[in-house]
Amino acid sequence: MESKTDEIQEWFDKIDDLLVVIDNKGEIVRVNQGWIDYCANNNLDQKIIQGAEDYLELLNQSSNAEAADTIKEILELEIPEYSTHFHYMDKDGDKLWFEVKIKTVKLDSNEPAGAVIFHTPLKGSGIQSITVETVLESMTDGFYLLDDQLRFNYINEVAEKIIGRKRDEILGLTAHEVFPKLKGSNLEHQLLTALRTKEHMEFDENFSNYDGWSHIKLIPLKNGGLAIYFQNIEQQKKLEEKLTEFAYYDFLTGLPNRRKMTEIAFSLKERKKKFSFFYINLDNLKFINALYNYASGDKVVVSVAERLQSLSDHRCHVGRLEGDEFIVIRESAPGERLEIFAEKLMDLFKDPFMLADFQSAYVTASIGIACIPFDTERLRDLVAFAETAMYEAKKEKGSSYSFYRPKMRSQRERRVLIEKSLMGCLEDSGFYFTVQPQISGGGINLSGIEVLARWKHPVLGELSPLEFIEVAEQSGTIAHLTTHLLHEVLKVIKDWEQLYGWNIKTAINMTPSLLANTVFFEEFFNLLEHYGVCPSLLEVELTEHAEMAYSETTMRNLELCREKGISIAIDDFGTGFSMISYLTQFPINKIKIDRYFIRQIGEDAKSEAVLKSLIHLAQSIECELLAEGVERPEEVLFLKENSCTVFQGYYYDKPLQVKDFERKYLSDLSFSSQK
Ligand code: C2E
Ligand code: CA
Ligand code: CA
Repeated sequence: MESKTDEIQEWFDKIDDLLVVIDNKGEIVRVNQGWIDYCANNNLDQKIIQGAEDYLELLNQSSNAEAADTIKEILELEIPEYSTHFHYMDKDGDKLWFEVKIKTVKLDSNEPAGAVIFHTPLKGSGIQSITVETVLESMTDGFYLLDDQLRFNYINEVAEKIIGRKRDEILGLTAHEVFPKLKGSNLEHQLLTALRTKEHMEFDENFSNYDGWSHIKLIPLKNGGLAIYFQNIEQQKKLEEKLTEFAYYDFLTGLPNRRKMTEIAFSLKERKKKFSFFYINLDNLKFINALYNYASGDKVVVSVAERLQSLSDHRCHVGRLEGDEFIVIRESAPGERLEIFAEKLMDLFKDPFMLADFQSAYVTASIGIACIPFDTERLRDLVAFAETAMYEAKKEKGSSYSFYRPKMRSQRERRVLIEKSLMGCLEDSGFYFTVQPQISGGGINLSGIEVLARWKHPVLGELSPLEFIEVAEQSGTIAHLTTHLLHEVLKVIKDWEQLYGWNIKTAINMTPSLLANTVFFEEFFNLLEHYGVCPSLLEVELTEHAEMAYSETTMRNLELCREKGISIAIDDFGTGFSMISYLTQFPINKIKIDRYFIRQIGEDAKSEAVLKSLIHLAQSIECELLAEGVERPEEVLFLKENSCTVFQGYYYDKPLQVKDFERKYLSDLSFSSQK
């Protein structure tokens, strides 16, 4: 599938005008071939054509500050269109004059408008020094002078070309003789009106004698005739249509975008149609982007669009909101069961998606459904309700759907509140952490601690980390949260070092998106230096994840950790997917066997066998081993018998407040007086 970006470039290159597209800050984001050729042939600085150059700055350098200011103003006010003249200095310092038309365009529906700049070179060296005659002849506009009987008195070279006849043949003829289709046309009406009212007129016209659309200016003359400027804007019109199309369609997939889908929904509602709104969120696109690369993520998005479109018909519209969100608007048919359609949607995600480099991955979708008028009469509610239902569906693993129910509303509000609180400053927000001891040897020595985040939310009360960590991960605030936590934790470690000679590892949990976040790791290393904490006192805990094994960024970040002496532990081991491939690819120091296996001790022989082989596996690759969630003495016994001797769990201690931990484990400076 050819991407929209290629398509628009092809379009730009077809246009004869010299085009430069700039973004809202004045940086060049695109130029066309015409402009590249012109710059090369006219000794212009190549900078003008390079990407990411500041066009306004280049104008300033060409001693054209006024033009730069005007463009800035146009961008700020999003004035739709503006024409002017200005010049560039070529490399010899000669001025090249252009007639320029500046049109603001939305390059991306979320960004402020940028602009397309159409340059039309003016022949002659400087605009001030040329005569009226040369201006008329060098203009790229067609130009005619008609007398009060609409007889041709003058036409310029361009006009000859447009009409396709020599001026000798035309001068003296009337407009009606030259253009047989003029009679009764809108153009005739305009000409006569201008003659009669003596008022300046300007309009776009698609007059059938010409090649498509023209922009026409009629200027009544004192002697009774008309001066007519005539510019062929067919290509510009098409470009505009294209640009409008881009404003309504998604760049990557070509699907209708939010704006277009809103229009569709609005029009259905106006026509009193019943319809349902399916809000589709891809569960793991963020991972695919982070763990493979954006090209793979884009490939998935395009394939999802294609699969969804296979379901579209005259009463079923598919669109893309943004990122990992799609919507389907479906007009209701009598007796129709929406579950069946929802199942069809889910079926689209059964097969894996191809990524770049012949790899493939499963992508699942969470689908929320709300209906007009069943759930609400208002469009705005409809979208919010469907989104709320989508979050409900998200709670299920894998693809699933959920219909909106009014009680979900308060859950949604809760989530939004958590999201908002996470975005703010976490200092004094009720956010804190506990530590849970890791016990080794005969079950007596403290061998490490794990940091577990806690949040006594000012409105919602005590929150489970399972809830707020997931919200943070999904709303992109996890780095903010973890950095805050690191500040607090490192401060405490430094204190303990000074007070008690603390030299034991502290484990911090990190989510997949954090592991792929290089900026976060830079910050992490800086903080260690800032607080003067030795990296070997820290451990990073990561949870198994299907795609993680392949991400280069994650690998690089983990290797950097290892180089610095930070150790790496795999959390919840045995519950994920990858296992062996994982252990061989990642630089791992420690495996934490999930509580799921520990719970089965003494209950289920098969699970005990799996547990034994997990322990064996860890030992064979020389990893440290820790059993999580140890609660009962028989668990400890079994584990010890099978040579697993490091434990974390309620049997020893629940996660403790820092002060309690200090009192219990640190104040007597010995870690060996407990159980
Ligand atoms: P986890 O990393 O597997 O942490 C262990 C969880 O098991 C903790 O729950 C702990 O309180 C609980 N636990 C410990 N021993 C026992 C036991 O003997 N029996 C039982 N039933 N449970 C035990 P918690 O603190 O509620 O944390 C839940 C999860 O939230 C953590 O699971 C971790 O995935 C996540 N989490 C907590 N703090 C953070 C954090 O700072 N960052 C990130 N990324 N995730 C965090
Ligand atoms: Ca953990
Ligand atoms: Ca765990």
